[in-house]
Amino acid sequence: MNIHEYQAKQLLAKFGVAVPRGGVAYTAQEAQSVAKDLGGSVWVVKAQIHAGGRGKGGGVKVVKSIEDVRSTADQMLGMTLVTHQTGPEGKEVKRVYIEEGCDIARELYLGVLIDRVTSRVTFMASTEGGMEIEEVAAKTPEKILKVVIDPATGIQPFHARQLAFGLGLEGKQVGAAVKFMIAMYNAFTGLDASLLEINPLVITGAGEVIALDAKMNFDDNALYRHKDVEALRDEDEEDPTELEAARHDLNYIKLDGSIGCMVNGAGLAMATMDIIKLYGGDPANFLDVGGGATKERVTTAFKLILSDPNVEGILVNIFGGIMRCDVIAEGVVAAAREVSLNVPLVVRLEGTNVELGKKILSESGLPIVSADNLADAAEKVVKAVKEAA
Ligand code: ADP
Ligand code: MG
Repeated sequence: MNIHEYQAKQLLAKFGVAVPRGGVAYTAQEAQSVAKDLGGSVWVVKAQIHAGGRGKGGGVKVVKSIEDVRSTADQMLGMTLVTHQTGPEGKEVKRVYIEEGCDIARELYLGVLIDRVTSRVTFMASTEGGMEIEEVAAKTPEKILKVVIDPATGIQPFHARQLAFGLGLEGKQVGAAVKFMIAMYNAFTGLDASLLEINPLVITGAGEVIALDAKMNFDDNALYRHKDVEALRDEDEEDPTELEAARHDLNYIKLDGSIGCMVNGAGLAMATMDIIKLYGGDPANFLDVGGGATKERVTTAFKLILSDPNVEGILVNIFGGIMRCDVIAEGVVAAAREVSLNVPLVVRLEGTNVELGKKILSESGLPIVSADNLADAAEKVVKAVKEAA
């Protein structure tokens, strides 16, 4: 799960990470009163969407009067912001963050993530702040400093000093950075985050170390123990089909292809997607209907798949282990009738009562293509979609 910049900053502040003062606003009027409360003479109006690159896209504006805060917020709210991370369709801005202006001396990069190779929490730091770290990694990998944290000890001051010296910090900046990094680590582990990115991390003219931007992703599997984080979910930022799937306990992830997949078990779902690719097709989604694929779940899954206008064919690949194939076949037939299916449907069943299951499919009178194995199923659905096109 992702959250907005202002929400990440509020969470980080609780752990002692230094962030500028600011407040969220849903209207231009609110923006104006937030700016008044903050005081000072320079404010920054920042569009809150779940995507980076806002600065370049016109979603971060520095202003020097309360009236300009109001007019800038007015202009930003409701606009469709396009950045390299939103895709060409952009995202509508529904909230803005009003923050005190910061006197920037240096912009650095600091991120914490779980490195899949070492399975350890890892800090990444770079002097190339403001730039996308993917770009730095691709062009100048030597400019990225990595520090791996041993879970047995957690972060130690020497880890943080190694990062601070690597970033060229001096004098009292080092102490501030060490405090900052330890607080960051505590927030990351304490909240079960999967990514925490501060870009830019700023050294101010006065030598303070401050998080000027903050991006946080959380491990969905740990959200049950962080109700306060879960409450920050912004459904406007999420894929409506994925939300609907989550309501029915279906694991659904939308992809860009044309072949809808309905599979039980995440491993089988991955294998199904792979084999569709192998036969020259592209999966439209990942969908794991889980172990107990009841008629209701199969129907909901069908509806979800078909709500994607790119779907030109469906492949159902179910292994009847705990479930019996005849029960699944009945579910598939009923679901196909209910949603008045209008794209080719290939079904591959394997397991208990498979012959009976196949009989039910073939006697249903529906144009369901039955397949014998995974390769056969993938070949048939790719062919059916190509023929229909
Ligand atoms: P994004 O990464 O989406 O472009 P950032 O929050 O990183 O958004 O802001 C982009 C740039 O805007 C920063 O690199 C910084 O130069 C400037 N900026 C952001 N917040 C402030 C602030 N409070 N004071 C001064 N400049 C800021
Ligand atoms: Mg940024």
